[in-house]
Amino acid sequence: MGTTNHKKILIVEDEQDILQLVKHYLEKEGFRPVTAMSGLEALKKVKEEKPDLVVLDLMLPEMDGLEVCKRLRSVPDTAMLPILMLTAKAEESDTIVGLELGADDYVTKPFSPKALIARVKALLRRIERVPAGGSTLHHYGALTMNLDRHEVSLGKQEVPLTAKEFGLLDHLLRHRGRVLTREVLLNAVWGYDYYGTTRTVDVHIRRLKQKLPLLEEAILSVKSLGYKLKDSDVSE
Ligand code: CA
Repeated sequence: MGTTNHKKILIVEDEQDILQLVKHYLEKEGFRPVTAMSGLEALKKVKEEKPDLVVLDLMLPEMDGLEVCKRLRSVPDTAMLPILMLTAKAEESDTIVGLELGADDYVTKPFSPKALIARVKALLRRIERVPAGGSTLHHYGALTMNLDRHEVSLGKQEVPLTAKEFGLLDHLLRHRGRVLTREVLLNAVWGYDYYGTTRTVDVHIRRLKQKLPLLEEAILSVKSLGYKLKDSDVSE
């Protein structure tokens, strides 16, 4: 119940040594690892195996990790699949691109298996806390968001939000702890056919912070990327 045990993890890595090492440690922790050694094989395995999380190496034959990430994010079935990227220090700029394309977190090589397992577990815990489709309430500290009634309250005080502010807050709460680019937020809240600029997002973030002061410090601006709602323990 809510534990990480028996979760299926797809490891995508073309270096046999690293692949076996990660596989071994995941098995030891009670996970069910499946493997792929190229980008194309990764996409195939995601379809066949339906993993709960993907550990995705950046440099891969046939199709690199960035492209795999992009493709997984562009399909509704896998748009929310947790992705942990493995990157080398020299690939730092690619790491940024990876986060932009929707990777949830990354681990830099060389890494200790222990550290990797810890990140895998943290990511799975974070995902489990996100309300499933059926839930209509978000809690974040003193803030409660009722999606059915379209109401937001801070303590007992109801705070009126516009439809876009409401949508933006909903998206931030669902993806707390994850860096969301302005483009991603714009598409999620305003839609692909919106002709405004990404500045629109900044304006609405500022308004949300004014209306809900607890977000002032909770929404972090991530340099040259976008925003992130702190995945702090103020949530229940
Ligand atoms: Ca590699």
